[in-house]
Amino acid sequence: MSRLFRYLEPAYLSGLIEDPCLIVRDRPIHRSIMIDCGSLHHLAKRELKPVMAIFVSHAHMDHFMGFDAFVRQVHASPRTIEMFGPPGFAARVSARLNGYDWNLCEPYWCSFIVREIHSDRTVSFEFHGPSAFRCEEAGEQHRTGDLIYRHNHIEVSARLFDHGIPVLAFRVNERKIFGIDAGKLAEYGLVQGEWLRELKKRYFREWAQDEPISVTKMAGGCRVAEPVADAEALYAVVCAAEIPAGIGYVTDIGFSPENREGVVSFLQGVELLVCECAFLKADMHKARASRHLCTKDLNELLDRLRPRLFLAIHLSKTYLDRSEELYAELSPPPGTKIIRIPEHVAPRPVYSCDVTRLNSDRFPQ
Ligand SMILES: [Zn+2]
Repeated sequence: MSRLFRYLEPAYLSGLIEDPCLIVRDRPIHRSIMIDCGSLHHLAKRELKPVMAIFVSHAHMDHFMGFDAFVRQVHASPRTIEMFGPPGFAARVSARLNGYDWNLCEPYWCSFIVREIHSDRTVSFEFHGPSAFRCEEAGEQHRTGDLIYRHNHIEVSARLFDHGIPVLAFRVNERKIFGIDAGKLAEYGLVQGEWLRELKKRYFREWAQDEPISVTKMAGGCRVAEPVADAEALYAVVCAAEIPAGIGYVTDIGFSPENREGVVSFLQGVELLVCECAFLKADMHKARASRHLCTKDLNELLDRLRPRLFLAIHLSKTYLDRSEELYAELSPPPGTKIIRIPEHVAPRPVYSCDVTRLNSDRFPQ
């Protein structure tokens, strides 16, 4: 999947019928984000350590139960991990963290910053390891637009959908690189110079500096310096138009007209769509009753979104050994390629007889 993106590297770490977990790596800095933490017990510590933020669609068990495995691997390291979830999410995180005794906590342990995404605001909470992960309120911010997270090359947007409970869908965009349109420079009488280097510096510092920037212009056949008050606004005018490469992640939504139209507008233009397909067409009534998607719904979404790649996830466990039927029912439009994955990627469960065989020297049968 990595060739779609310049810096991002998505990896789906679960099987088709296993509980979902998508990792998106920011390759140049060896860091990653995780979307849903369903089943993590099979993952190497090296996959979990670079995760700097976790995005949870909703706290149904199959999307969140891997959180404990994550905490087990990272809790004793000095770092802060951001977590994002729907309204009520902080109480779920708190309940999980408070399910253990932390009397042995140390000053260097990790912290979690949990951000609940409401339609109009973001409400934050902190859980510091050195304070035994006690929940502390950390204020709220008015929310405009879909963007909820930005780090290096990764930008994540989120929107709420209905699954009987609120569910977040995510869009991960590869943050666009700094680029200038030479035609626009000429149009505004601007000429290249040292000021573009300064503009680039401010871009990567996310416009933290707010003093005017001195640009070079042509006036009366001469180059003149001119202050421009708003460097960010100037960049918006002269930047090269670039559509960022994107990944859409949708799971556990009913196929109501509101959800359907919302997903189509939110994920328009994504290169890779990762989407739940819990049921086959014949079981559409089960999909409607449990507010999930079936293959017929997916075919409609694919036709309208037309991603370059589509990865179906989260097939109901009732279809064990029947995944071929899922792929047979999916009919993507021209230009969309289906990524096939195995039903299982985690090692098979262990039986007691496997263990007693290993122990046979010490415990003769
Ligand atoms: Zn669910």
